[in-house]
Amino acid sequence: MKRIAVAGLVALGLSACQSAQPVAVEPPPCLAQCQAEQFQQLSQQMIDDLWRLSPTWALYSGVYDYADQLVIPDAEARQRQLAFVAKWRQALAAYDSKPLTGNARTDKALLENLLDSMEWEVTRFKAWQWNPAQYNVAGPFARLMNEEYAELDTRLKAVLGRMANVGRYYAAARDNIDNPTLEHTQLAILQNQGGLSVFNETMLEKARASGLSDAEKALFEKRYLETRQAILSFVGHLEQLERQLKAEGARSFRIGETLYEEKFALDIQSGMTAKQLYEKALADRAQAQKQMLSITEQLWPKYFAGQPMPSDNQQAVRQLIDHLSARHVKREDFVAEVKAQIPELEAFVRQQDLITLDPNKPLVVRETPPYMRGFAGASISAPGPFDKEANTYYNVTPLDGMTDEQAESYLREYNHWILQILNIHEAIPGHYTQLVYSNESPSLVKALFGNGAMVEGWAVYAERMMLEEGYGDFEMELWLMYWKWNLRVITNTIIDYEIQVLGADEATVMDHLVNGAFQQQEEAAQKWRRATLSQVQLTSYYAGFREIYDFREDYKQVKGGEFDLKAFHERFLSYGSAPVKYVRALMLETAQ
Ligand code: ZN
Ligand code: ZN
Repeated sequence: MKRIAVAGLVALGLSACQSAQPVAVEPPPCLAQCQAEQFQQLSQQMIDDLWRLSPTWALYSGVYDYADQLVIPDAEARQRQLAFVAKWRQALAAYDSKPLTGNARTDKALLENLLDSMEWEVTRFKAWQWNPAQYNVAGPFARLMNEEYAELDTRLKAVLGRMANVGRYYAAARDNIDNPTLEHTQLAILQNQGGLSVFNETMLEKARASGLSDAEKALFEKRYLETRQAILSFVGHLEQLERQLKAEGARSFRIGETLYEEKFALDIQSGMTAKQLYEKALADRAQAQKQMLSITEQLWPKYFAGQPMPSDNQQAVRQLIDHLSARHVKREDFVAEVKAQIPELEAFVRQQDLITLDPNKPLVVRETPPYMRGFAGASISAPGPFDKEANTYYNVTPLDGMTDEQAESYLREYNHWILQILNIHEAIPGHYTQLVYSNESPSLVKALFGNGAMVEGWAVYAERMMLEEGYGDFEMELWLMYWKWNLRVITNTIIDYEIQVLGADEATVMDHLVNGAFQQQEEAAQKWRRATLSQVQLTSYYAGFREIYDFREDYKQVKGGEFDLKAFHERFLSYGSAPVKYVRALMLETAQ
């Protein structure tokens, strides 16, 4: 209730500390709180300003006020971005972090990091020059056509306005592209070809049948045709570029150590360097492989009585994993099984007193709605910052659309044991639980710019913590599958660093994935491709996990006999989706 009142004041441009107060005879008791409220106002202004600067960013965040505007990505736009950075850096600097609440301090750090990232993208990383895949107009148009945030006529008018600049958008893109990589050029061709499908007959038919005026309809048709033409000619331009790059050689997709460390610092916001994390990953991989071998030795006679274990360790582990993977639910029972597991996870968390679960925010397990079924799997659909009261859904996609062969492969991957780990990760006490806590410390800043490494790291941490606390009764089969699962996030960190910084080639990487981490050839090949197109993102799960786990162990040392796992978890999550290094600092400040 109180929270709503404060939000109301902020919306009116007032804050509690500006309202008339009797002359204080004692120091105001809420210095930090007052400062935090003023700071919240400032961050709201900065966010509003950001939406004006980047209508597309706004649109993807659920703000449609500037949806009819398409920014031309030219030098002038980059100047406006840098001016935005300078202006808001100065505004934020006026706030001393010390007296702010923990929530406001972490918000401030996130906003400063956002500005640093924006500047770095323009002046240092310059993907706007070498990554043609940055240029694609289709996504926001698809969203305007499909997302029913307003009447169709309103949305069509936004589409109409937005189409006006498409020609100039792609002209600026051509001017910007300079010495691109072959891989990103090819990606841009594919994605822009795909983007054409957004500008299909249905779009035009909807416009013709709409309430737009005749003049608007005529303009719509004209711009629609121009848009298609602009995309086609951009693709043609890129295809020509591709031939040239193939013949003459192209820039490497590897960004090298300096830029990698800089990107890692900005994207992950870790207390470690990328190199330090890489070294931890190497040690963890050795540890995981060792554990898997040890479990395999113990379980071998149970499953392969009378058969000697292969002398090749990796082969032995793989053979046992293959054998165990046959234990899985029937395809038609997949969704029901996930549904049945949620109350079991809840019960375990309560019995072991691991963290308080709010019974008023139940998780609704449902079949993934058809429009969201891009690929099979499970995901959490959280209410966004602008519709907080909505349900949280655990979307589980039934295997209806799969052939028998596909379903079998999928079910072997999400076998009896991995499925439980997946549910811990996605639901309880993973993403869903973190989300409930995060919504308790409402921060628009964190809802919009929260730290991905912390969010994924928490879910990965939850897997390990549950098993350590005895979920599954220390069953060796479960631990074997856990290590295989964990090896994936460890290996992602290793290959990303080795590819981007150390120059590892495809054969080396495939060996890490297939032989080192027991992955299927197909999965590994996709991972290689992804790792050539992105940088740092693959490390986020492991980076967050390692930092949370290490912090917990350090915190245990500090607290000694007073350490309480539940209290640690609840305090840790109370700061929202803030980078682990800030939560760590805040918790240690008051721990002794
Ligand atoms: Zn089977
Ligand atoms: Zn996750």
